[in-house]
Amino acid sequence: ILDVRNLRISFGAMEVVQGVSLRLQRGQTLALVGESGSGKSVTALSLLRLLPQGASVDPGSSIVVSGQPVLSLTPRQLRQLRGGSVGMIFQEPMTSLNPLHTIEKQIGETLQLHRGVSGRALREQVLALLEEVGIDNAARRMGAFPHELSGGQRQRVMIAMALANDPALLIADEPTTALDVTVASQILELLKRLQRKRHMAILLITHNLGIVRRYAHQIAVMQTGRIVEQGTCTEIFTSPRHCCTRMLLDAER
Ligand code: ATP
Ligand code: MG
Repeated sequence: ILDVRNLRISFGAMEVVQGVSLRLQRGQTLALVGESGSGKSVTALSLLRLLPQGASVDPGSSIVVSGQPVLSLTPRQLRQLRGGSVGMIFQEPMTSLNPLHTIEKQIGETLQLHRGVSGRALREQVLALLEEVGIDNAARRMGAFPHELSGGQRQRVMIAMALANDPALLIADEPTTALDVTVASQILELLKRLQRKRHMAILLITHNLGIVRRYAHQIAVMQTGRIVEQGTCTEIFTSPRHCCTRMLLDAER
């Protein structure tokens, strides 16, 4: 579902992603872990060509998502990919939710826009999504505005929005960083449950190696724009080889 080869991204003369390769299959979770500034978010954004102005991707890079060569898609094909088989969630849901619209309206718009749902079915599907992501009293909370929800609930709403497209790949950039430990593990449990049910692939980005232990199948460790170590979860936790990996592990203890 995801095949990235020799990805290189620069801001001006500074190359911040230096030849990254990643592969991910449906039903699997790949954790991309690394210290702050190592290039995780830039890598994630490039997968849907969402990089900020001033960033340039080296022409020798290759990104294939759902069989589509991302770097050579037309704007129309790119819109279809963003609204279709890939979902993305971010660290602070407040910034991606519209503060002036109710939860029902925001999820409803996504369903309408990307899946053509309308009328009475719309309300039912919004409700079903909110229930699927474990929002309690979903029928009542549909009418709430983002600021009326807790951080964990907002993150669940963001996940519901991502699910509205029925994605085959979910990219989650620091989805739990703004949350306390208990709520963070609830969100990760939710992602794991959804993954089993929907057979999604998840790219889980975090600077916290400890939290991915129970959730990732594969782990890639990134440092200053490169993948310095990659392996199964067991390999990384029982016999880390690179000093950066050991440092991240030590940071947990
Ligand atoms: P964090 O864990 O803090 O989120 P990260 O691994 O996601 O870190 P990135 O956001 O991918 O790090 O940033 C990688 C590098 O790219 C950093 O050196 C950063 O300064 C640089 N960078 C990111 N965005 C821009 C930008 N818009 N303009 C210039 N440089 C940028
Ligand atoms: Mg980041």
